[in-house]
Amino acid sequence: MKRNVLIIGAGGVAQVVAHKTAQNNDVLGDLHIASRTVSKCDSIIASVHAKGAMKQSGVFEAHQLDAMDSDAVEALIRKLGVQIVINVGSPFVNMTVLEACIRTGASYIDTAIHEDPAKICETPPWYGNYEWKRREDCAAAGVTAILGAGFDPGMVNAFARFAIEEFMDEVKSIDIVDINAGDHGKYFSTNFDPEINFREFTGTVYSWQQGAWQENAMFEVGREWDLPVVGKQTAYMSGHDEVHSLAANYPQADVRFWMGFGDHYINVFTVLQNLGLLSEQPVTTAEGLEVVPLKVVKAVLPDPSTLAPNYTGKTCIGDLVKGIKEGQETEVFVYNISDHAEAYREVGSQGISYTAGVPPVAMAMLIANGTYDLGTMLNVEELDPKPLFALLDTIGLPTRVKIKDTDMTWDQSIS
Ligand code: NDP
Repeated sequence: MKRNVLIIGAGGVAQVVAHKTAQNNDVLGDLHIASRTVSKCDSIIASVHAKGAMKQSGVFEAHQLDAMDSDAVEALIRKLGVQIVINVGSPFVNMTVLEACIRTGASYIDTAIHEDPAKICETPPWYGNYEWKRREDCAAAGVTAILGAGFDPGMVNAFARFAIEEFMDEVKSIDIVDINAGDHGKYFSTNFDPEINFREFTGTVYSWQQGAWQENAMFEVGREWDLPVVGKQTAYMSGHDEVHSLAANYPQADVRFWMGFGDHYINVFTVLQNLGLLSEQPVTTAEGLEVVPLKVVKAVLPDPSTLAPNYTGKTCIGDLVKGIKEGQETEVFVYNISDHAEAYREVGSQGISYTAGVPPVAMAMLIANGTYDLGTMLNVEELDPKPLFALLDTIGLPTRVKIKDTDMTWDQSIS
């Protein structure tokens, strides 16, 4: 049994993680949240108490932390006696937090691949540039590190394994489709950190097809999808974390990621990019002020966490997996539907943060009870998905399966 959790970061996803860990503090024990700006941690804890989210009375404390400083993270882990770290800070802090976990033996969970602030879109496979270099160290220290454990990456990796194991003898392709059919009512906003969001789309679009990395430009390849609940939607092939681990674990399959975008988003994005305002490289103004254009854009756009109160509509995120079963071609769509307004009512967040924040808490609960405490570094598709689906059915993110015209829960689909 592992207990006591440290949440790192105090943004939109951390808000969800805080509420969900509080709702399950009988399993997870003492709760702590640490971030750069401690007042944001205080506000999150206040919202947890305002919703009466703590399942039983217990500790929930805020701490100031620079997570880029491994020594500081290590010291905090030791001082608080936490055994599980849920890192939902900026992806720039992943490797320093992981280092502290390796030193202390605490389990590590994150929801995005590590990024170097000065580099965009490094060579594939992206996990090979940072995280996987520490795999042997995790194994040697017996540290469980679950990488990319949000929704996408995260649940979509589990969906792929489930579809392949349950319904196929041979997998041919994995297409991950992320549609947000919600409306936040703003002229323009990203759904999570604008800096991270734009960095995803300014580089090369890497996909894994015909056993090799293929390169495209953003918005070069688009197609219409007809999906449950959200209907017909156009999505564009995009670079994304999960392609880089699924391609390693299922090299025989084509692996692509598709993100839904409206024309308005594409127009604004294109203007910003063509003007150079999405660059991560510093420029100097006439007044001698050095600024990073991307950080300036972030500063003037809405804080994604402020979108939640007025967000309406639903998300549909899933995997269309194609393969061969008993000599016949087959295809399965494994997916989840989430509702922005319901997420706000429950935890005070919009649906994108909700879908990203609930899975790492489920992972923490499965580490706490030993199921996922495997003492090594793992991407989500390397874990048995069924305990995860079963738990998520009960804590807010049910998994559904569509096979031809039949739509059912994941457990009905295999009974
Ligand atoms: P936010 O930008 O809202 O929050 C990031 C938090 O990290 C902020 O509170 C920020 O502090 C904190 N932070 C940044 N640098 C440091 C530092 N050096 N030390 C301590 N804290 C720091 O992001 P989100 O909540 O939207 O996203 C969190 C993570 O989740 C990101 O990695 C994102 O990529 C990932 N994500 C994953 C998804 C998935 O489905 N897999 C979907 C959406 C997001 P401050 O408040 O001071 O700025």
